Amino acid sequence: MSTEIVKEIICPQCGETQKYKLYTGINCAENPELKDLILNETLFDWRCKRCNYFAAMAYPFLYTDPEKRYAICVSPAAGNTVEPTAAVKDFTKRIVKNLAELKEKILILDAGYDDIAVELVKNALCSIIRGTYKVPRVHAYYSRVSGEEMEFAVFLPKKEDPVYHSTKMDVYKQSQEVLRALDFVDPPQFLQADAKLAKKIIEDYQNI
Ligand SMILES: [Zn+2]
Repeated sequence: MSTEIVKEIICPQCGETQKYKLYTGINCAENPELKDLILNETLFDWRCKRCNYFAAMAYPFLYTDPEKRYAICVSPAAGNTVEPTAAVKDFTKRIVKNLAELKEKILILDAGYDDIAVELVKNALCSIIRGTYKVPRVHAYYSRVSGEEMEFAVFLPKKEDPVYHSTKMDVYKQSQEVLRALDFVDPPQFLQADAKLAKKIIEDYQNI
């Protein structure tokens, strides 16, 4: 079930008070239109009806897909811990910081891929890209699988638009092998499956 709350907010530009609908829970089977807002990364957008002032909000909520059986907690403030409810006990559970990360998880899990293996692919790809472009850090987001290649949108420092890079699906299959070799098991809690976790898994693998 999706749950919504209506809050009164005061426009910081014109002072007009108006209602803003926010969601503490989004069930994509019941509200596919909210899933579309997430995939467009516009769910948090707010525009003042009086003066047109625009703001991007950020608040925590739980996204659930009861058919594909996963639950993703969006937690913009660091250090939030979330206890899984009985309803999502057997689901794949992830915690992300923002809509871009949520969108990435949805794209990966809807396509039936293992998001942790995808993080390992990203880890390998990003280290190559850092060398190629001679930059200290890059952010990559899963984009799609096309034929025998997995494509990522890569954001370089100080560049607004991404560059797209692909890896062979073999790299994904090797990443799955790494997880199997480590007997990696999804924990019962919400897991932050990100670049940091990928680094730790690779370190563990190198120490076998
Ligand atoms: Zn206003």
